[in-house]
Amino acid sequence: MARKIFVAGNWKMNTTIASGVALANGLKETIGSISEVDLAVFPPHVYLKSIAETLAGSQITVGAQTMYFEEKGAFTGEISAEMIQDVGCQYVLLGHSERRHVFGETDDVINRKVLKALAAGLKVILACGELLEEREADKTMDVNERQVKSALEGVEEAAMANVTIAYEPVWAIGTGKTASPDQAQEVHAEIRKLLAGLYDEETAQATRIQYGGSVKPGNAAELFAMDDIDGGLIGGASLKVEDFTAIVKAAL
Ligand code: PEP
Repeated sequence: MARKIFVAGNWKMNTTIASGVALANGLKETIGSISEVDLAVFPPHVYLKSIAETLAGSQITVGAQTMYFEEKGAFTGEISAEMIQDVGCQYVLLGHSERRHVFGETDDVINRKVLKALAAGLKVILACGELLEEREADKTMDVNERQVKSALEGVEEAAMANVTIAYEPVWAIGTGKTASPDQAQEVHAEIRKLLAGLYDEETAQATRIQYGGSVKPGNAAELFAMDDIDGGLIGGASLKVEDFTAIVKAAL
């Protein structure tokens, strides 16, 4: 099945309002009319509205880097699915390794966020990935299976149309060390097999699985060419118009 490539940029805790708007304007100019590839950027929460307004009328959609699973109330510092929709987001990124390992988000919390986001009508990029010590201990698939399975608990088959998985080996994030295309392909194929078991073959074949971890203009094409790699979640290289543009063009 031909899955449409999906390239997303995770800006993390970077940019100012001025540099974020300039980055969005630059991307709008270079890749804003590309429709053969799905595109999204994930700016910091406080800039979401401005970036969504900047990108309006282009093919580039906007997502939030995280959200909380409650609707409203006494949850100081958190924002809800409804709030991020209100400022123009179509997507939310959940389960990113920095949320898991820096902020201590558990599988259960991630599952609750996934369920809430989908129920609210958001599209989800669900990230998973093993630590270096887990890979070295031959636990790569155990970890990815546990993370994906638990995050999708209670997610109906029909809702899977709104879920993209991002396989991001933690040892490759921001380190300059990319998984080789074969290493990444192996895990992607296993995740697809897991989805076939959790749902069915058709759902597994239709679900996009992005690769993330030091994707750069120089390695994007060979990664995206692999059978089960359906695009990328890009961190560092999404902060430069030239680099993100080159990565998106590598997907064409
Ligand atoms: C990420 O954080 O999702 C990521 C893949 O980062 P980088 O591209 O910088 O490794």
